[in-house]
Amino acid sequence: VKITQMTALDVRFPMPPGAGSDSLHVDPLYSFATCKLRTDDGLEGTGITFTLGRGNEVVTAAIRAFWPFVRGHDVAELAADLGARWRAWANESQLRWLGPHKGAIHLGLAAVTGAIVDLWARSEGKPLWRLLLDLSPEQLVALADFSTISDVIDEAGALELLRERRLPEAEIAAQLERGYPGYDTSVGWLGYSRDQLVTNALSSVGRGFRAVKLKVGSPDIATDADRVAAVREAVGPEILVMVDANQCWSVPRAIEAGRALASSDVFWFEEPVHPDDVLGYRDVATALAPMRIAGGEHVPNQVVFKNFIRAGAIQVAQPDVVRLGGLPEFLGVALMAAEAGIPVLPHAGETSQIHQHLILFTRCVLGLPELPLETIPHLAEHFVDPVQIVKGRYRPPTVPGIGAALQPDSLARHAATTEVLT
Ligand SMILES: [Mg+2]
Repeated sequence: VKITQMTALDVRFPMPPGAGSDSLHVDPLYSFATCKLRTDDGLEGTGITFTLGRGNEVVTAAIRAFWPFVRGHDVAELAADLGARWRAWANESQLRWLGPHKGAIHLGLAAVTGAIVDLWARSEGKPLWRLLLDLSPEQLVALADFSTISDVIDEAGALELLRERRLPEAEIAAQLERGYPGYDTSVGWLGYSRDQLVTNALSSVGRGFRAVKLKVGSPDIATDADRVAAVREAVGPEILVMVDANQCWSVPRAIEAGRALASSDVFWFEEPVHPDDVLGYRDVATALAPMRIAGGEHVPNQVVFKNFIRAGAIQVAQPDVVRLGGLPEFLGVALMAAEAGIPVLPHAGETSQIHQHLILFTRCVLGLPELPLETIPHLAEHFVDPVQIVKGRYRPPTVPGIGAALQPDSLARHAATTEVLT
């Protein structure tokens, strides 16, 4: 089954007022740079990466740049050796200069890799989580690229980990039966008033969620502390309350804010400072311990994640498979985090479509703790098979693929350009 056609689409969705807003991203237009691949037997695979609107056309161009390297290739052959193939694409000697392994070119690679994995899962007739749970440790190791992380984990270490950590089959069956817990980030946008936050948080708990996350980064810390305390008081002590500063603070300011928020029993403090500031994160984590520091949605590759983990700079890893270069790099990050004993809770907002599969892998195969996975419902109507959350828990998807396929109607209305490459 050979790949014969690529379509790169610039898809942007209008948002309700205030939705998606945080301390630095005040007017988001949720968008997907989308890669569709077709095979000679008519199968179609879809991969996406996420942007906030402007610049989506740059990432769409980056997707097209990979066409010569996947054109005409057999899906099963690519899948069997995906780690090595991915490494070659990520290191393509001219495109590499645009990164390496970061920025628009890496986002483009994430979408292309996603489309290939989608084709693979569809050709196997399995949702991605099932496909991953059915692979042997040797097959899983062949999906990752250890070339830049072997000082922390190599193939042999990964094999050992995969053989040791998998949950017993009865526990996996029970996990699939009860579904995976989620939390809804759309409760706590920074653009919402204090009263709205409390109302939304109570409504979320009423729908069965056991965790809420609130955006922080208001002009003064007292306002944030008051908003978070109001929600904590409303939801009571049993519900997890997390906060997310979306990178807005300096290191001293983040430490000051963390101290002001600590009395609300914050389960994690997400993105306190600039996402490249590994040692700044470490200083925040040291100053605020035992408060957990979370980060990763803007960490571009497994090398930077390795540095965060080695520095003790994060206690919750939040990789995003569409920010990283796709499944191979997500696996690298998940293996390093599991080795270090750090939970992996992907940044999954708009891409919980894909991460609902990956969290079942990290839970069942890597044995990581059952902590809640993010979701944001604003784009649900645009997916062919939107996430199903019942009483606060994701139902395991049943449709083959990675879950990224978009409704034809939505594409017709919201895709700006459609260029078909053959
Ligand atoms: Mg976040």
